[in-house]
Amino acid sequence: MSDYVPTIGLEIHAELKTRTKMFCGSKNDPDETRPNVNVCPVCLAHPGTLPVINREAVKHVLKVGLAVGGKIADYTEFDRKNYFYPDLPKGYQLSQYEYPLVSGGELGGVALTRIHLEEDTASSVHEEGTNTTTIDFNRSGVPLMELVTEPVIHSVEEAGNFARELQLLLRYLGVSDANMEKGEMRVEANVSVAKINKKQETRNKLGTKVEIKNLNSFKAMERAVAHEIKRQTKRLERNEKVIQETLGWDEGKQATFPQRVKEGSADYRYFPDPDLPSLMLSEIPDFALEELRRAMPELPWERRQRYISLGIKSEDAELYVRERKLGAFFDEVVALLGSGNSKGVLLASNYIANDLVKIIRDIEQRDSGYQSEIPISARNFKAIIDMQLEGKILSRSAKNVLLACTKGAGDPLIYAEGNSLLLNEDSGSLSATIDQILERNSSVVADYKSGKAAALEFLVGLAMKELRGAADPIKLRQLLDSRIKPEKS
Ligand code: ADP
Ligand code: MG
Repeated sequence: MSDYVPTIGLEIHAELKTRTKMFCGSKNDPDETRPNVNVCPVCLAHPGTLPVINREAVKHVLKVGLAVGGKIADYTEFDRKNYFYPDLPKGYQLSQYEYPLVSGGELGGVALTRIHLEEDTASSVHEEGTNTTTIDFNRSGVPLMELVTEPVIHSVEEAGNFARELQLLLRYLGVSDANMEKGEMRVEANVSVAKINKKQETRNKLGTKVEIKNLNSFKAMERAVAHEIKRQTKRLERNEKVIQETLGWDEGKQATFPQRVKEGSADYRYFPDPDLPSLMLSEIPDFALEELRRAMPELPWERRQRYISLGIKSEDAELYVRERKLGAFFDEVVALLGSGNSKGVLLASNYIANDLVKIIRDIEQRDSGYQSEIPISARNFKAIIDMQLEGKILSRSAKNVLLACTKGAGDPLIYAEGNSLLLNEDSGSLSATIDQILERNSSVVADYKSGKAAALEFLVGLAMKELRGAADPIKLRQLLDSRIKPEKS
């Protein structure tokens, strides 16, 4: 018997958020729509110009390196990666080869090979309806971080989780917006399948890999990898070889297709750029690691852990980790409730992750825009949670109050009072109602006493109706049950 074991290694590029480009003073503005505005002789590769290293970009990569526990280089340098393409005016890309800024490290259980810094190319713009391609140099020389994983990922889910976690990290660190649809984060997936003889071989054996490019969403990445695993497995089952090649992903056909022959690293004729100084990082105060470490924000996995330890549902925790505005709101509410108030924290999380999120999505849809503010204050939200915890209001009513407050109803307690949503706390009138109901429904009472459990629900329903819904059904059920407990047989 053989097993077919897939292996995936990812190479991820991210455009870094900096004021200026990687080696010149031109603006780094991904939102610029006019072509060739943010350019200068350096990023247009005019002869005689000299590059200067952007410290901010270096710092960004160091932050990522520290967050993933990688080894930060002491010595580092930039190399020329030589190849010809119209979007590369110098005829080489400044990148890092032998001495990357970061080596090793780990993210979400996936071992990293390296993280280095390079420059982006210009963008080729294919004019629709013509055979013309024009070049926009706004992107030429934008700082680009490249992160490479070891070939240790063995499923589509794992690959997707890794890429999403990296996106979160980049956003938390504020080093990249990492929007895949905008090309700010670009994922290349290397995929192989190994045929493994269960008796003789370890599962670390690697098959021949292909590299898939052009993946501009997480979904596309996941579908492309799944498609490749299937395709390669089929070939191996038929005793056919997998050809090492670079593939593109055709979103329309949902299939991979051969793209170009990949150059080996020898073809790039890498060599250290003679125009840039090599760096002894430890000697440059701007790059002092203790300082960068001290300024590190709470990281996605730390935040996730903090939420999990509050005892909330893991889906809720994930929501707050991914949508930081909701997370910040939850944090505010928890601070008001006190993190020791686990009942309150759980209820609050429930209402935020379900009801409040639904309200926000509705607003977003209606205004076909982004809801920038949470439509209720943490204080008012907390007041609603308190009302329900104190048994003043039913959960159904609490949800109504929440909705009303997001529409400007003001103080939740006053609103609840004004709309007769507060429960009838007068236990005298409760027991009067119960007396009446028991008296008028003696046969139902008899059914319950003889063991017909559903009879109690009928009585609860009658009482609720009598009280016009202003009562807690759980409390009613308890009261009724205590009065007419079934006889023990
Ligand atoms: P190349 O020389 O083709 O660029 P590298 O060894 O530099 O290959 O690896 C590039 C990426 O491919 C890395 O992310 C690595 O984990 C991944 N990779 C390497 N070999 C395999 C394999 N057999 N199967 C899947 N991924 C692989
Ligand atoms: Mg490589």
